[in-house]
Amino acid sequence: MKMKKISTLAFLVLFFPSCFAPSNAIPANQAGTSPTPTAAPKQTAKAPAPTATPVVCLDPGHPSETSAGNVVQNGTTEVHIVWLVGLKLKALLEAQGIKVVMTKNREDEVVTNKERAMIANRAQAKLMIRLHCDASSDNGYAVYSPDRPGTVQNTTGPTQDLIERSKVAANLVHQGMAAALEGVLKDGGVRGDSKTFIGAKQGALTGSIFSQVPAVLIEMVVLSNPQDAEFIKSEAGQMKMAGAIAQGITLYLKP
Ligand SMILES: [Zn+2]
Repeated sequence: MKMKKISTLAFLVLFFPSCFAPSNAIPANQAGTSPTPTAAPKQTAKAPAPTATPVVCLDPGHPSETSAGNVVQNGTTEVHIVWLVGLKLKALLEAQGIKVVMTKNREDEVVTNKERAMIANRAQAKLMIRLHCDASSDNGYAVYSPDRPGTVQNTTGPTQDLIERSKVAANLVHQGMAAALEGVLKDGGVRGDSKTFIGAKQGALTGSIFSQVPAVLIEMVVLSNPQDAEFIKSEAGQMKMAGAIAQGITLYLKP
C-alpha cells in the first residue's frame, strides 16, 4: 500500500511536472488575479471605467470633397504642411501617453469631411483637432470652433452641448498656442465656424456638423503670406507649431 502511494507520486511528478512546480511559477495570466473571489463580480457589475488613455483625433486637412489643398503658395502647399505638422504633433502627444487617431494614413489620401468627423466619433476621441492653413491678405494663426448648428447632406449639427464644449476646448487650445507662439506669429484669437467661407453658408463646417466630439480647427498660418510661409516651411517652425498645439491640447486634457 505504501509502495503504491510512492509510485503514484513518482508517476505524477514524471508526467505532470508542472503540477509540482514551485508556487512562484504561476502562469502569467493567473498571476494578477485577486485572491479574494468576491472582488471580481463587484468590479464587473460597475459601468465600464473610462479608458485611462485619452484619445485625440488629429485631422490634417485635405484632400477632401471640397479642396485638394494643393495650390502652390510661396513654394509649398497646404496639404503638405498640415501633414508634416500633423506627424510631429502625433509624435509629441504619443510621447505624453496620449493615444492619437489620424484621419488619414498618407498625405495624398482623399477623405471626405464627413468621414473625418466619423473617424473621431468612432474613436470616441476627447477632442478632434483639425489642421489647416489659411489664404488671405492677413497673417498669423487663428482657432475655430462651431458657434451655431449647421445643415449639410440632410444632417443638422452639432448639438448646443457640443458647441459649448468645443468652445471650451478652442479657448484652451488657443491659450496654450498663444503662450508658445507669442512674438513668433500674429495671434488671430478664437473665432466661430460662422466666420469661415463654408461655415457662413452652411451654419457650421461639415466636420463640425457630423462631429459628436468637441472639434477645434486651427488655421496654423496664412500660407499666402511670405513670412508665415517661411516660418512653417522650416523644420524648426513646424516643430514650434506642433509644440504650441500640443501645449494647448494638454491644457484641455489635464484633469
Ligand atoms: Zn484647408
